[in-house]
Amino acid sequence: MRLYNSLTREREEFIPRVEGKVTMYTCGPTVYHFAHIGNLRSYIMEDILEKYLRYLSYDVKRVMNITDVGHLTSDADVGEDKMLKGARRENKTVMEIADFYTKAFFSDCKKLNIKTPDVVEPATGCISEFITMIEELLAKGYAYAAGGNIYFDTSKLEKYYVFNDFTEEDLNVGVRETVEEDSNKKNKADFVLWFTKSKFDDQELKWDSPFGLGYPGWHIECSCIARKHLGEYLDIHCGGIDNAFPHHTNEIAQSESTFGHEWCKYWFHVHHLNTAGGKMSKSKGEFLTVSLLEERGFDPMVYRFFCLGSHYRKNLVFSWENLENAKTSYNKLIGKIASLKNSGGTVAEEDMERGRAAFKAALDNDLNTSLAVTALYDALKMKTNDETKLALIAEFDKVLDLGLIAHAEAVRSEEATEEQTAPDVSAELLAYIKEKIEARRQAKLSKNYAEADAIRAELLEKGITLIDKKDGTDFSIKG
Ligand code: AMP
Ligand code: ZN
Repeated sequence: MRLYNSLTREREEFIPRVEGKVTMYTCGPTVYHFAHIGNLRSYIMEDILEKYLRYLSYDVKRVMNITDVGHLTSDADVGEDKMLKGARRENKTVMEIADFYTKAFFSDCKKLNIKTPDVVEPATGCISEFITMIEELLAKGYAYAAGGNIYFDTSKLEKYYVFNDFTEEDLNVGVRETVEEDSNKKNKADFVLWFTKSKFDDQELKWDSPFGLGYPGWHIECSCIARKHLGEYLDIHCGGIDNAFPHHTNEIAQSESTFGHEWCKYWFHVHHLNTAGGKMSKSKGEFLTVSLLEERGFDPMVYRFFCLGSHYRKNLVFSWENLENAKTSYNKLIGKIASLKNSGGTVAEEDMERGRAAFKAALDNDLNTSLAVTALYDALKMKTNDETKLALIAEFDKVLDLGLIAHAEAVRSEEATEEQTAPDVSAELLAYIKEKIEARRQAKLSKNYAEADAIRAELLEKGITLIDKKDGTDFSIKG
């Protein structure tokens, strides 16, 4: 498989460190509010990556943190703790907020068929691990104490990694116009590992440490949680593109300084879901959540399908109209699958191999999900029996996880119930009734109500009663 690596800015052949095994780390949510569908786009694409690796028979171990402390309102260590802000907003404790939104996050993931990682670890459960790494960094001279906080000293690195398109100017977080300069820092790019002093004295959660009563910085969480469960080497690190800098840059600085060697080989960054007004956020514009999609009549699978239609390294623009189009396509796809019949025929292995090759070629090419969906449509059009098509679709859906077979079965059983309740009439009579129903519809459209009533009366005389429903006209026959 070839994967774009943000670290080298190249598409590379993916070769895990240990043959057949993949260690994967994902930055989890900051649980101060519901996830918006932009956050969930990242998790959907990471889920596809994980499932494709498993499809390729890799033994994957994936770890995710839950940020329940330390993520400040700015990614560059300033402002108050997002968790505290959430707690104040809802008049609850930080832990109550964390518990509620962690559950809400996994409930959204479940609706979107996003698998729960093998290990999920809240930051507040790993304070001793953070302290250990900070002590190691201090001992090696990569960290210093100033003004009550412990900082990472970026000047000690030969290279303070830069991701993607970030320039030196972006790196100088301290001089960004909107960011207040922290006079304790020796270098502008330095960042906090442990806070004991902050402008925000009401920080709710604090822990004793050799550096004083305080709380960890956000970046140290991921380095330590990855180390705790995956050791000193990581094959893939995932996250949204906004996490590339400073968060991932700082994770690399901490981990590699502690370990004394390269830490993670491949960096997988998902680009943003935007609205017409720009990057989606929780504070700006409509707060788009999975529940809101459901309230508006969209199955969460439609959103997953919508995401798969575009490449993870391109920004994706969300609009209700775009989602409506995805819904139409998804329903048509399900309809097509529902019309396939499994009559117990044999699956044609050669055709399976052909279909599979197209699907793998798409995903091997930097996880091209939209081409993988095309491979799915092509499988439906293949000159082969329905059993083979169904087998291919079930196989592809192990990765795409669009609920295709289950949804198609639901449509099929709905149709079967409708057939059972439909009156038993000859084809000739049915054609006659349908023709009359259509003529009556046309009459109504041209406001010719007398004609429409006459048609109803004509049928009634023959014992046929028309029943108008929301989505058309049905009928019943006497006797
Ligand atoms: P957070 O809960 O803010 O820590 O973010 C959770 C994940 O969502 C991170 O991987 C972010 O990079 C990602 N993310 C944030 N905003 C967006 C967006 N508009 N589109 C895609 N991913 C996003
Ligand atoms: Zn992280």
